[in-house]
Amino acid sequence: MAPPQPLGPSVSFPQPSAPGTSASAPDTSEYAAIVRDRLSRVAERIAEATGRSGRPSGSVRVVAVAKGHPPAAIEAALGAGVADIGENRVEELETKASLFRDRGVRWHMIGHVQSRKATRAFALGGLIHSVDSLRLAGKLSRIAEAAGRKVRILVQANLSGEATKGGFGAEAALDGIGAVSALPGLRVEGLMTMAPFTSDEGAVRAVFGRAREIAAAASAALGTGPLELSMGMSNDYVAAVEEGSTMVRLGTALLGRRPG
Ligand SMILES: *Cc1c(COP(=O)(O)O)cnc(C)c1O
Repeated sequence: MAPPQPLGPSVSFPQPSAPGTSASAPDTSEYAAIVRDRLSRVAERIAEATGRSGRPSGSVRVVAVAKGHPPAAIEAALGAGVADIGENRVEELETKASLFRDRGVRWHMIGHVQSRKATRAFALGGLIHSVDSLRLAGKLSRIAEAAGRKVRILVQANLSGEATKGGFGAEAALDGIGAVSALPGLRVEGLMTMAPFTSDEGAVRAVFGRAREIAAAASAALGTGPLELSMGMSNDYVAAVEEGSTMVRLGTALLGRRPG
């Protein structure tokens, strides 16, 4: 297929007037317009990509990554029917979760969770995509057991080997999923990964394909149903969906540039 086209901005944003000054964020109605424009484009591209990979068009969940955006962005996402909201910092998720209580938001923690913040991450009650070590998994499991409920998680795999990325390495991922799945407080729903930082589409696809293979092997080994595959961001979600993603994590493609 043709390489994914970059999504050009479909709206203009106030830009910082000088380095060091911050751009003012869009307001609620501006965000509503941004999300409306962008979501239809995203949905179309996902539908085409699932079509090409022979899957039903409803097989991919869109997680709106609201990090760095104000609450108005979440309001707009909810208004457009996107109730899966992702954040990469525990503090920011807590703040926003307190503003959107009882609004039916499904929260996704997608960033590294420091061990000392595991209790707070657990308390948020969402899906934690970024369980990147056995140590964090063990800690979350103990917290969940003590609270008498399970915590839903994805195991993060670092399949590109980049030192800046967290997660179980390619050789350790399958055993890692097995070990994490044996912990009584966790409900392991799948695998999360990030593409390497490169414009080489072949290398990006190789990582996504490897994630799909590991998830398939894990589901066979554990006797579970098909596992979720959280992969694909604004720059690479079309390739990710073609390679089997079931959850794309979209910030810029859905909400525009982060004003923060
Ligand atoms: C920020 C972030 C995203 C979304 O990034 P975009 O390029 O804006 O789509 C997805 N996943 C993770 C883990 C992130 O930190």
